[in-house]
Amino acid sequence: MRVIVVGAGVVGTLHAWHAVERGHEVVQIEREAEARGASLRNFGQIWVSGRAGGEELETALRARELWEEIGARVPGLGFRACGSLTPVRNPRERAVAEAALAREDAADRGYKLLTADEARAVNPALRGAFEAALYCERDAAVEPRTAQLALREALLRSPNYSFLPGREVREVVGENAVRDDHGDVHTGDAVVLCTGAWLGGLVRELAGPDLPVRRVRLQMMQTDPLGEPLTTSVADADSFRYYPAYRSPALDELDAAQPQAPTAAEHRMQLLMVQRADGGLTIGDTHEYEHPFAFDTLEDPYDHLAEVVESFLGRPLPRIRRRWAGVYAQCTDPTRVVHRQQVRDRVWLVTGPGGRGMTCSPAIAETTADELGW
Ligand SMILES: Cc1cc2nc3c(=O)[nH]c(=O)nc-3n(C[C@H](O)[C@H](O)[C@H](O)COP(=O)(O)OP(=O)(O)OC[C@H]3O[C@@H](n4cnc5c(N)ncnc54)[C@H](O)[C@@H]3O)c2cc1C
Repeated sequence: MRVIVVGAGVVGTLHAWHAVERGHEVVQIEREAEARGASLRNFGQIWVSGRAGGEELETALRARELWEEIGARVPGLGFRACGSLTPVRNPRERAVAEAALAREDAADRGYKLLTADEARAVNPALRGAFEAALYCERDAAVEPRTAQLALREALLRSPNYSFLPGREVREVVGENAVRDDHGDVHTGDAVVLCTGAWLGGLVRELAGPDLPVRRVRLQMMQTDPLGEPLTTSVADADSFRYYPAYRSPALDELDAAQPQAPTAAEHRMQLLMVQRADGGLTIGDTHEYEHPFAFDTLEDPYDHLAEVVESFLGRPLPRIRRRWAGVYAQCTDPTRVVHRQQVRDRVWLVTGPGGRGMTCSPAIAETTADELGW
């Protein structure tokens, strides 16, 4: 079988990965010289902790298993089973963590409620003030800036794989071929469009104006090396407000009695923080839903994040080395992990994994491969 994959973000690359693994010929086409979208701009969190129970959690757990297997074969992915800690600072936040622990799927996620001393034994860099921490053993991380490159290097070792960068796919030709902006036509037994947050143009033409996918913009930053290990990822209790796994009466009480800080509320913020391989910290994030998106980054959210991080670390943040924004595509139906749509006889669109795309893409691509009978 010959598979044409359009898009070289993590979703496209993992589709290529599964197709090559199953012995098929793959041509992967990317508009840019190298992917520059959400897949490189993210935290690299393989984030199981906040996923909704059921299909979403199952997908994330399966994906984490696949990331671990792939990471063992592709060291440049930087896979590490680091787990995460969400420090809580008062009884209301603690009650949300306790409600999460009472979930019937808590053990699948590896949740534990740690005292502050136990949390510091796991992650000694957390010298600031907090009362306890929700530990999620299943959370993990990869290196987003190098992951695609490392995966591609591994794929290129297969004679069945070829990568065509610098070509924008402009048109679907017939039922199973695409034409790029060089005028070349690529024909396959299956074509999978993994075009990320580019929802206009070709995608709009194929899927129609009612695509149940929206775009979300986030602000991020990265520091100089911390000078010591941050052994787990770290989130703050505001993250409880954004992830479905934490929904509970305790969360309703937290929302009612302890609203977010004004800057955090205005920019729909939570703290997520991961240490990079070079020791720097990737820190975010904000969420912007209304178009047109800002073309610049705002300082207030960064000030808020720095304050929260410093309160957990009990020390000043290293110098900020980089700031950036990224946009992901999110399926608007919360019961679906991704939007997978057959747009022609042998052409599928796979987009909209939202803020869980880096986590779930190996399992999303595996499902596509199974459903299409690869
Ligand atoms: C700031 C930020 C932080 C995030 N953090 C996390 C996280 O920690 N964990 C997590 O699980 N998820 C996270 N996400 C979400 C995750 O990054 C995305 O869901 C995922 O990267 C989407 O991958 P993709 O391959 O669909 O899209 P993309 O990475 O955007 O790739 C799509 C590619 O398709 C190419 N393309 C588009 N149209 C064409 C065309 N016509 N022809 C050829 N090529 C085309 C584009 O150039 C692009 O390279 C985050 C997202 C952002 C923005």
